[in-house]
Amino acid sequence: MTQAIPDTYRALRVLKDDQGARAELQTLPLSALPEGDVLIRVTHSSLNYKDGLAVSGRPGVLRTHPMTPGIDLAGTVLEDASGRWQPGDAVILTGWGIGERQDGGYATHARARPEWLVAQPAGTDAHWAMSVGTAGFTAMLAVMALEEHGVTPGSGEVLVTGAAGGVGSTAVALLARAGHTVVASTGRPQEEAYLRDLGAARIIGREDLPALTRPLEKERWAGVVDTVGGATLAGAYASTRTHGSLAVCGLAGGHDLNATVFPLILRGVNLLGIDSVTCPPARREAAWARLARDLPATRLAAVTQTHPLADVPALATEILAGRVRGRTVIEIG
Ligand code: NDP
Repeated sequence: MTQAIPDTYRALRVLKDDQGARAELQTLPLSALPEGDVLIRVTHSSLNYKDGLAVSGRPGVLRTHPMTPGIDLAGTVLEDASGRWQPGDAVILTGWGIGERQDGGYATHARARPEWLVAQPAGTDAHWAMSVGTAGFTAMLAVMALEEHGVTPGSGEVLVTGAAGGVGSTAVALLARAGHTVVASTGRPQEEAYLRDLGAARIIGREDLPALTRPLEKERWAGVVDTVGGATLAGAYASTRTHGSLAVCGLAGGHDLNATVFPLILRGVNLLGIDSVTCPPARREAAWARLARDLPATRLAAVTQTHPLADVPALATEILAGRVRGRTVIEIG
């Protein structure tokens, strides 16, 4: 049944004034939504590290104020002026600047360009899509990039850094599912059982990763999914095996990269950048199809917690403090 188009919608807005930035739940006229042919009734969003920064008023994510954060959303199409989508279609939207440059998923309604949307894969639902979210999608892109550069099961150990976080947890699960030997690096030793359950063969502490002392360290990793950046990435890069690859996703530990060209030119190491925001549509669809196959809802249940929209400001503080495990789905209601 086609849903009615309301006059107003509810959104978590980040406002900025002389006292700084703050998040507030507001009711707004539907005309306040940004431009975009497709109107979506949002049922679920998710919490990513970037959302934590945006909701907490940290600089660098929201390009203007006021703004509705939320870099992910899933819901149902209400109308599409372009004709590409039909009312009732279940869709997923991650990245493309929503929750950064234009209003995002922390709202009952959103507007978007038709080419940004991915159809909900058959047999999945909006809660599943948001338990994957940008974090799981990014992990999938990282695993695809490693595979395309020759990291195959049996090539050797694949390191995942920031393993208990959203990208890290899903990367561990996806790599293990594909048959890789996964070494999970975490600063939270209490998450060992959780990471083993996801498929990690070995858990190492953050401090157990060798500090960078030389441009080329002992060869250890066939592949790396790095969500931490900084010294962690520099060490992993210098310890990657000949013709191994690193998929570089994040900066949870720092944005510097203190490195030399030696791993590139003496070991043929591939340093692969992952950007989920601008990922082209065909690759998006391929990634979501594989996520639906390899990460069913049953597999994600242990990784996922679900909260209402009103909890987002408190959760934002938690994710920035590194205290959120795995993925957080936000029910918009
Ligand atoms: P989470 O906060 O869920 O995970 C980050 C993890 O990094 C933490 O759980 C923790 O893992 C580890 N960590 C946190 N602080 C530090 C620190 N100071 N030093 C070392 N490790 C640390 O975030 P997400 O998984 O959502 O995102 C991870 C990173 O990836 C972020 O930087 C994010 O911006 C980036 N990202 C990039 C995307 C892209 O398209 N390139 C898309 C999505 C995310 P543990 O407790 O196991 O040590």
